Amino acid sequence: MLVNTDTNDNNILHIGFDDTDSTLGKCTTHLAFKITSYLYKKNVKFLDYPLLIRLNPNIPWKTRGNGAVCLRIMTKANNNENIIDFIKNELEKNSEIGKGANPGLVCLQSKEIPDEIKQFHRLAMFDILSKQKATKLAQKYNLKYFSFGNGQGLVGAIAAIGCLLNSDHTFEILTYRKFENCGTLRIIDPVNVIRLHNTTFPSTFNSYDYIHKRVLILPHGPDPVFCGIRGEDPQVLHNSLKILEIKEDLAGYMIYRSNQGTGMHLQNELKLSMIKSFTSGYVNCVIVTNPQIIQGGHVLFTVEDQLKNMCLAVVYEPTGLTKIASQLHTGDQIEIGFGVRKATSKHSKVLNIEYIFIQQLAQIYNTVNPVCINCNKRMKSEGKNKGYQCKKCKIIDKNCKKVLLIKTRFLKKGLYVPTLKAHRHLTKPFHRYGKEKTKFFEFGNVELYPKWFERFG
Ligand code: ATP
Repeated sequence: MLVNTDTNDNNILHIGFDDTDSTLGKCTTHLAFKITSYLYKKNVKFLDYPLLIRLNPNIPWKTRGNGAVCLRIMTKANNNENIIDFIKNELEKNSEIGKGANPGLVCLQSKEIPDEIKQFHRLAMFDILSKQKATKLAQKYNLKYFSFGNGQGLVGAIAAIGCLLNSDHTFEILTYRKFENCGTLRIIDPVNVIRLHNTTFPSTFNSYDYIHKRVLILPHGPDPVFCGIRGEDPQVLHNSLKILEIKEDLAGYMIYRSNQGTGMHLQNELKLSMIKSFTSGYVNCVIVTNPQIIQGGHVLFTVEDQLKNMCLAVVYEPTGLTKIASQLHTGDQIEIGFGVRKATSKHSKVLNIEYIFIQQLAQIYNTVNPVCINCNKRMKSEGKNKGYQCKKCKIIDKNCKKVLLIKTRFLKKGLYVPTLKAHRHLTKPFHRYGKEKTKFFEFGNVELYPKWFERFG
């Protein structure tokens, strides 16, 4: 069944908000849960799942995962002032303003999203954008906007609205704790998490790390999220809650559509001559210095792009990619996804590697002494330009030279991604490569899974 959105533009409201939390508490998705509860009661139509959009993960001022939220709704009244007022008040009340949060709220009243706002989102995935640019855009398109603190939250709020997520996407069900339980230990039976993984993977993913025997669905901070399960299908995610047999009395849950697990921040090819600190992207390059293992087990090497610009690249030990990286060799052709670490007084900019795709392995050689034509033994050098002598049959050959032997490379061409415990929100898990969703997801034209949201009690 399709939802009819053929209506007055003023009935459609896109609500974006960001930067409500600090490391001390609060959570932007919990605010989204509260606002959704309010809108649900008001009987508005949700034209899409709430969107949980992760933006450039390499910006230095993020609290945790650089996440922003967008809600797309259709209201009955032409005047959305009450809704906007409510959200603004909630944002102000539920943000850690003065303790590190700089919340922003943006509302766009229109069916169409201006191309410039979509472009703003594209840039926010890998570049650094200013709040001035965000404000100008809000003014140009007559958006209702509010910001607190230093106003940086406007960037995430507009970017979230501009993210249509109409090709690859994933889902996450977040369950929320009651206020009185926040800060207490989250208790879940790991056996149930393993069962969840075994019965639903790859429809759900990143729930359990078999290598390190770790449950991955529980956050660790004082925030109100009890657990989060990621996957490809809202119904499977909803059913997952039954498998987990959660004992804690929860406040409710909400299913988000998200760019988590899509690698969206690394989709732009960057030129090494133009890379800026804190940006993210990928480059096709050749290795020009052999890898060096440094203190901490990290691996460093220099790469050169097609325009012959060079840059230092590092593979950090926790990624689990250092064993592979240390076997790379000059001349190897690779594609790497990276975030740019800023230059310091000790080093220039460095590419922090997030994946390695080995395209071509260079042939490398060992130089060895020639073999005696009589007895097939390796000969010994007689000194520079004096030829070689066989130790066994004493033959001297003044003309023979060292020979090159092709060295066996134990590396295999292909894609290498970080180990599960080093995944960032946007990291595309290995199993999702080639399985990306391509179906066009047009908000308003899709029926949502009916149990995408529930508030208990
Ligand atoms: P959480 O994941 O727990 O919600 P967070 O990591 O999202 O927290 P925020 O508190 O939202 O952190 O802080 C991120 C800040 O960076 C916001 O103010 C957001 O507007 C801003 N921001 C996001 N992307 C960019 C970007 N590409 N350029 C500049 N600022 C950005």
